[in-house]
Amino acid sequence: MSDAFNIPKRMTTSLFRFSFRHYNTLSLLNSHPSKHACDHSFNIINSSNKRNSSSNISPSSNSPLMISAPEFSVDYLIIGAGVVGLAIAERLSKRQGKSVLLVEKNSRFGEETSSRNSEVIHAGIYYPNDSLKTRLCIRGKQLLYSLLFSQNQDSSSTRINYTSSITTDSFVSDYIPSHPFILSSSTLSPPHQKLTIPFYRIGKWIVSRTDDQSSYLSSLHEKSRNIGVKTYFLSKEQQQLLEPNVKANEVLVSPTTGIFDSHSFMSWLEWMFRDKGGDLVVNSEVTNIIRGNYGSGDGYIVEISDADSVDRSLSSPSSTAPKTRVFSPVVVNVAGLYSDRIANMLLPPEHHYKLYYVKGHYFGYRDGGALKVQHLIYPVPPENLKSLGIHLTLDLNGKIRFGPDVLYINKPDDYKIDDKRRDIFFEAVRNYLPGIKKEGLYADYAGIRPKLSGLDEPFKDFVIKEEVEHGLKGFVNLSGIESPGLTSSLAIAEMVDNMLIDR
Ligand SMILES: Cc1cc2nc3c(=O)[nH]c(=O)nc-3n(C[C@H](O)[C@H](O)[C@H](O)COP(=O)(O)OP(=O)(O)OC[C@H]3O[C@@H](n4cnc5c(N)ncnc54)[C@H](O)[C@@H]3O)c2cc1C
Repeated sequence: MSDAFNIPKRMTTSLFRFSFRHYNTLSLLNSHPSKHACDHSFNIINSSNKRNSSSNISPSSNSPLMISAPEFSVDYLIIGAGVVGLAIAERLSKRQGKSVLLVEKNSRFGEETSSRNSEVIHAGIYYPNDSLKTRLCIRGKQLLYSLLFSQNQDSSSTRINYTSSITTDSFVSDYIPSHPFILSSSTLSPPHQKLTIPFYRIGKWIVSRTDDQSSYLSSLHEKSRNIGVKTYFLSKEQQQLLEPNVKANEVLVSPTTGIFDSHSFMSWLEWMFRDKGGDLVVNSEVTNIIRGNYGSGDGYIVEISDADSVDRSLSSPSSTAPKTRVFSPVVVNVAGLYSDRIANMLLPPEHHYKLYYVKGHYFGYRDGGALKVQHLIYPVPPENLKSLGIHLTLDLNGKIRFGPDVLYINKPDDYKIDDKRRDIFFEAVRNYLPGIKKEGLYADYAGIRPKLSGLDEPFKDFVIKEEVEHGLKGFVNLSGIESPGLTSSLAIAEMVDNMLIDR
């Protein structure tokens, strides 16, 4: 074998980095004992789960493209290297003797929603008690803080003295930061590399400005108590002392809310995943999936195209793009804003998913120091919970930003910011921060929520589901993973791991 086909172990690879004919599969096959070159025939199974009588490969009714036999097989194939895909890949890579392939269309992991958010570790108090959003956010917060604090014990940069790793809210209940931006760092020291995940459990204020909003805060406090998440009210004196520039009728504090460096977190997940033998391929776009029987088991051929050559203006992806085909008995779709398209490659039309794209803009603030704000400040959210309201967040450098707002758009990649929205931001923020100056606001960045609910539709929960009812065993769809998806990522990975316990 030529050296040219050996991908260095620590490199993020593209399936199409070399000539299309070589697929880089030789390297992938080498990197894990349970990746197999394919030497069996593949039988198509249609969505009603009837096996095609012919042993030849042919297009299924759901699949517009011809698919030929796979070049190699893996035990788990994950589509999408955002924070949730990385967390699932990291978790599954712990299984002894199993191979995991994580496929990403961009040139790096985490370039979409996972790097365009508020980086807030949410407490999990807003959503219906029995929803996945509530359960996974609370569990995800616990897992995340456990990770951050436990690694923190090794960190020389720690200045806040936390006594142990935490998994319960009671541990953090009374903590109010006495000084902003004393950072804790989570440190991992894998061979040849030191990786830190900075974080700060800063605490969040939810402020009311009317009587109605104050009664909402009372019910939120009650709800938080019922689900075991710590919140408490501040007296007027405490409000004045802690945040003299914030105007509020009532303030409900969520002390377990924090901020962290989600990029470092993703790097850590990627490192851990690949350290256990997992493969991440970038510039590699999933353009078709066919269900079928291969060798001794049922599963899926996933067609992966060179992302640079895919013509996305076509309703079905360009067939001229260089492709490779991978067989896997388990396919996990974590494709964020494109997760409906991936799911719909296999689901019957009457059960297709539909995502709405909901842009959230952020505005930064010049001279943020003059505002002297030390906590995350959130207004009372709108009733439909389409967002949490235009809030004030601080990043780990103490930089203030406001947002996100809510704007339904038609495209999943329209990140431009209309500076005219500055007026909307100014009006919203001065309600709780009267000292803000309009000229201090500047357009910063935008993120797009993959929402399952349309403009006038009610709350919809995360979808995390193996599509067994449609005869698609081993096909797991995650869709509508908007906020609090970042906080929930480790808990979502745990849930998917449990879902696939016998696979
Ligand atoms: C404005 C905003 C603010 C937010 N704030 C917070 C917050 O403060 N706290 C919090 O907990 N959550 C927050 N969230 C939610 C959080 O960011 C998301 O839930 C999380 O990032 C989703 O991660 P993901 O991995 O599911 O999706 P993504 O990050 O979108 O990753 C999906 C990946 O799939 C890839 N992909 C898509 N199609 C294909 C294909 N065909 N082939 C190969 N790869 C493909 C994409 O390129 C992408 O990299 C916020 C979201 C938004 C929009």
